[in-house]
Amino acid sequence: MTHRTIHLFNKGLRLHDNPSLLAAMESSAAVYPVYVLDRQLMAASAHIGPLRWRFILQSLEDLHSSLQERGSRLHVLQGPYLDVVRHLVARWGITQISFDSEVEPHCVQLEAGLRGLAGELGLSIISCVAHTLYDVKRIIKTNDGKPPLTYKKFLHVLSFLGEPDKPARDITTADFQKCLTPRQDGDDEKDRVPTFEELGLEVEPEVLWPGGESHALKRLEQHFQSQGWVANFSKPRTIPNSLLPSTTGLSPYLSLGCLSVRTFYHRLSSIYAQSKNHSLPPVSLQGQVLWREFFYTVASATPNFTKMEGNPICLQIGWYDNQEALQKWKRGQTGFPWIDAIMTQLRQEGWIHHLARHAVACFLTRGDLWISWEEGMKVRRRVEWSVGGIFTALCVQVFEEYLLDADYSINAGNWMWLSASAFFHHYTRIFCPVRFGRRTDPEGQYLRKYLPVLKNFPSKYIYEPWNAPEEVQLQAGCVIGKDYPLPMVSHQEVSERNLELMKQVRSEQGNTAELTRDVADDPMEIGAKRHAQEEGPGADESAGRSCSSAASSRKRCSSGGEHGGRACSWTPEAVRLPEISSEVM
Ligand code: FAD
Repeated sequence: MTHRTIHLFNKGLRLHDNPSLLAAMESSAAVYPVYVLDRQLMAASAHIGPLRWRFILQSLEDLHSSLQERGSRLHVLQGPYLDVVRHLVARWGITQISFDSEVEPHCVQLEAGLRGLAGELGLSIISCVAHTLYDVKRIIKTNDGKPPLTYKKFLHVLSFLGEPDKPARDITTADFQKCLTPRQDGDDEKDRVPTFEELGLEVEPEVLWPGGESHALKRLEQHFQSQGWVANFSKPRTIPNSLLPSTTGLSPYLSLGCLSVRTFYHRLSSIYAQSKNHSLPPVSLQGQVLWREFFYTVASATPNFTKMEGNPICLQIGWYDNQEALQKWKRGQTGFPWIDAIMTQLRQEGWIHHLARHAVACFLTRGDLWISWEEGMKVRRRVEWSVGGIFTALCVQVFEEYLLDADYSINAGNWMWLSASAFFHHYTRIFCPVRFGRRTDPEGQYLRKYLPVLKNFPSKYIYEPWNAPEEVQLQAGCVIGKDYPLPMVSHQEVSERNLELMKQVRSEQGNTAELTRDVADDPMEIGAKRHAQEEGPGADESAGRSCSSAASSRKRCSSGGEHGGRACSWTPEAVRLPEISSEVM
């Protein structure tokens, strides 16, 4: 209890399951909760759009309030990260620093910098893993030093590790009575959370996902009230175009660590324990956070994970460079209402359903436009010579910038999946941009909400308004080609062409494709067959059977004891069980 400690919040913006802060407080007489807002460092690691900035600032405010309620506060300081920490160490007579250990490359680099600084200044360090269920290094070590490259293999490795650690206990007022945050007069106004305006950002309209731990816990409780829903959750059966999220909508909170993934996981376990039957990975809710863990594990040990070039698990594909088409996709002006509505929801709200992400990612890449997954995932800055002779920086800002839950490992992993560059091998199944959405929302309520220009179209035509007779278009007050664009491609033609291109790539790069493929008993394949039998043609259409387009018309395993005496949840059998769509993780 002798240290004077700075706890550095990075992600992990919470007081529940915060083992680093808890350990810091148990070994200290004084603790200073600190968030260093190093905008340069943040900009170098990810391109953060206004919606996510707002989410971050709200999360910091929420954390500050929770700390204040417990007799402490959050100090937010701007500037170069290590300079700020060095300055604070001198200002407060610090002897120890604590932080979460994370796996993204820029976090690893930052941690190395902090360790170097601590060595130089003679500071003790406390650092725990709290952003993932396991220490992913342990998973890799258990798999002979390599990341398991398929979900099935990954679950198999986890079965040797047992259940993830239980969450650390909540931090309370009593903790801050034993370990104080020293205060000085006038301190409250100093080092506070900056406002949106102070950061020079334009104020966005009210968002559906307010940032912060308290909102995360509230949302979690709301979902967990319905134990049946939780126990029976099956991802392929959730609806991409419901007007309110049909899944938990917890990803922004998990992504910034306002919600602990271990808390989520163990709460699920306790509901499963009370249920007669419950769904299983890969489609269950626990299965979803295991996908998260899977991508974190693979990303942590794969060079250039967020790029095609130099990425050993990713097919090297000669994607087209078509900036005009990319802009149309980004702005929601493809002429396919299903795609355009999703892109509008993404831009306006910062969250879209997983299957909606499937639809737009497939459309951009292997489905229709044959544009690189990297373009869809991240921001590309381009410098162009304008008419007036002035250099202008143009930003193509898509998933990474718009998503509230934008995440280094998960975003890239899923983009590789959707573009069939890695992990996913049923590339002959291409989503139809007309029939996919219609299946779950035949009246087009979702389209009417996000594309009001089409709101008066009869349901029959709303997914393919170019097929509506002229009088119907006039009556709807929207002439296609004038008030709303014609489809930018013939889906049938381009998807057939792309399929041939993809076949060629895969025949030339079979070895790379095999790296992320299960050799036998692929659960996705089993699920795909069952899905096709149960539901007939639907979301996953082969190119040959595609829609009409403008051109064409115009638990519980008992073997845990063998592995350190702890129970494990998965067996290879468990992975084979449920109804799995080939397209759905
Ligand atoms: P739920 O279904 O309620 O799942 C609970 C949690 O499990 C999620 O919050 C998330 O943390 C995790 N999870 C769910 N699905 C996946 C998945 N496929 N892979 C990894 N983790 C998963 N998710 C992100 O968090 N950040 C991203 O940047 C991101 N980019 C994506 C890009 C593409 C092209 C695609 C197809 C998917 C992407 N996803 C991303 C995965 C997934 O779409 C979202 O996690 C999910 O839709 C979030 O909604 P939810 O919280 O309601 O999910």
